[in-house]
Amino acid sequence: PTAIEKPPLDILLAAPRGFCAGVDRAIRIVELALEKYGPPVFVRHEIVHNRFVVENLEARGAVFVDELDEVPADAPVVFSAHGVPKAVPAEAERREMLYIDATCPLVSKVHREAERHDRDGRVIVLIGHAGHPEVIGTMGQLPDGRVRLVENVAQAEALDLPAEAPLAYITQTTLSVDETADIVAVLRRRFPNIEVPKKEDICYATTNRQQAVKSLAGRCDALLVIGAPNSSNSLRLVEVARNSGCPQSMLLQRARDIDWAALAGIRTIGITAGASAPEKLVEEVIAAFSARFRIRIEEVTTTTENVAFKLPRLLAS
Ligand code: SF4
Repeated sequence: PTAIEKPPLDILLAAPRGFCAGVDRAIRIVELALEKYGPPVFVRHEIVHNRFVVENLEARGAVFVDELDEVPADAPVVFSAHGVPKAVPAEAERREMLYIDATCPLVSKVHREAERHDRDGRVIVLIGHAGHPEVIGTMGQLPDGRVRLVENVAQAEALDLPAEAPLAYITQTTLSVDETADIVAVLRRRFPNIEVPKKEDICYATTNRQQAVKSLAGRCDALLVIGAPNSSNSLRLVEVARNSGCPQSMLLQRARDIDWAALAGIRTIGITAGASAPEKLVEEVIAAFSARFRIRIEEVTTTTENVAFKLPRLLAS
């Protein structure tokens, strides 16, 4: 179609969106390790939950594995941003491997909290999603059985512990702010003396991306979240959009996943990206809309971020 025939479409672009400081640092760590040691550099688990990022690093010589025993003892290995159980670095030390930990410092902070509560004799309740690597890593900071996982309000209600038990709660960093508040309310009602984190465990990036989506969801006919199906913070953004006035909210990985039929007749679309989705994918999606619509872009900014984390000493120049 010629430009004149294209229907108009307003794009509301959420800001902040996309990469957080922890993801940025983790990718940089793999890049620097490739420069310093040359390929192959092994990476245990997807460094961040995004195929596009993983494939780019693979093309440069990174090799992604599920477990440490797939890594030769003489090759460098990087641990992903989500964090790892204590047993993983212990195993690497035992095998005298060169390992670099790309765990986000905000995840490490939760790990240290868990250790402190355990030292102080408290039972730890972890609010999070079973099976997510961050949850596996956080639970794995302590011996089996010391951390009790609670995934939702129903499980918080059913938690089988005496009301006066010495308790503390910690959370996954990428949860829904609102849903977590509901779970915490149940825990505080049932266990009035429960220790709460000094500073929220849900990280700044998760909070800011959810806030940005909330601010524009009510104005959109549909909202697209660019992110991977295994990316916790991206899935939460879809839920937040649905709960904030935009029922037609969808997760997609690339422009090729856009469901054009489902978007027929829309006039305003919101776009955001999870913390592990590169801006390049946002640009790709906007280009796909621009090919079919006469687009007008409005960036809706709720806050600006200036967080950056230091690199591990081994790689810092
Ligand atoms: Fe760190 Fe938050 Fe990014 Fe996770 S989402 S890597 S906790 S900054």
